[in-house]
Amino acid sequence: MATFQYPGVRFLHSPGPTFVPKAVLDAMSNQPMDTSDPRGEEAIQVCEQGIRALLNAKSADVFLYGANGHGAWEAANVNIAGPGQSVLVIGTGHFSESWAVMAEGVGINVVRTPYRVGYTMDIDAIEHALKADTNHEIVAVFAVHTDTASSTTNDIALVRQVLDATKHPALLVVDVVASFMTTPFSMDAVGANVVVGATQKGLMTAPGLAFCAVDERALKVSQANPMPRFYWDWVKRKSTQGYGKFCGTPPQNLILGLEASLSLIDQEGPDNVFVRHRRLSKAVQAAVSCWSQAGTMDFVCKVPEARSAAVTAIQVSPDIDPEAIRKIARSEFNVALAGGLGPFAGKVFRIGHLGSLNEPMILGCLAGVEATFHRMGIKFTAGGVNAAIEALS
Ligand SMILES: *Cc1c(COP(=O)(O)O)cnc(C)c1O
Repeated sequence: MATFQYPGVRFLHSPGPTFVPKAVLDAMSNQPMDTSDPRGEEAIQVCEQGIRALLNAKSADVFLYGANGHGAWEAANVNIAGPGQSVLVIGTGHFSESWAVMAEGVGINVVRTPYRVGYTMDIDAIEHALKADTNHEIVAVFAVHTDTASSTTNDIALVRQVLDATKHPALLVVDVVASFMTTPFSMDAVGANVVVGATQKGLMTAPGLAFCAVDERALKVSQANPMPRFYWDWVKRKSTQGYGKFCGTPPQNLILGLEASLSLIDQEGPDNVFVRHRRLSKAVQAAVSCWSQAGTMDFVCKVPEARSAAVTAIQVSPDIDPEAIRKIARSEFNVALAGGLGPFAGKVFRIGHLGSLNEPMILGCLAGVEATFHRMGIKFTAGGVNAAIEALS
């Protein structure tokens, strides 16, 4: 018997994976090629160049991996730091902590700055940690642009300013997994040495592809780094051929999908993509502000201007089960939401508003959430959808 197909579309509002547009699905449905087919080689180059251009990076090397964001984290970790060497991980929430734990897992020493729930990174603590490191043992500073669990976006330029002001030579390594193509980010202007991303969020491609963009300084650090590694090694991946670039067979169908998604971004115009994300995020925030007035829920991010263009995390009062909200929204209203991560598990639900989305999709999602509140008898201030409509018009 065929599995049940829900009618219409189930709205996907997780902050990754995100809705995959038809042009991307179609591109991924092509047959694989022999590994020297010029068409395959061309698609890889188009993807590398496209990502470089969208990062506003003139000359960085872009290394694509058949991996998720955690794979790109591991790649950055083992290329940059050796066993027992130190990195400074800026506390921004669940994702910075996961990255730190992965680095520790391969024997890197991690220095952390504290994360204050609901707020952006603590710049004074970063400055303090860098000043305290008088022997320059910290080889890199890891910064998460948008922490997806708390839905907070950090101003990465401030980290560069502190590095420069303290004359600390550490590399700046930035995670843009959730923010890429939702919030402007310029690798060269910020002076990031490494940028880490994945394709199933703002890049609208099915999960399974990740990248590191690496500048010359970081490549030199990698060359000299004693950390044992092979598959992730940037220097080994500097090849002119796809097979060498991927340390084996390239994930061709995902590459074709990414090529199609980059073309969609090009057609819309990157700046318009950012404007659209900002606009849709303001509509979601308007709805959440309205619902929250009843006192049963609130934004996790307490700094309005730092609220993410990609996702909104909503903390609910202890008598409300966010997992039940997700279950009913999905099964009865065809809206798939995300849950709370790490310390937010069972306390938070999240609305993803990134990728290939437009006004009626966002309004449909918000209406589904509101219907779920009604269905569950959750106390909330009605009118969230209207507030979103007003924000959009
Ligand atoms: C999603 C995400 C990751 C991890 O990516 P996966 O593809 O799930 O491994 C890392 N950092 C941030 C900020 C993310 O949002």
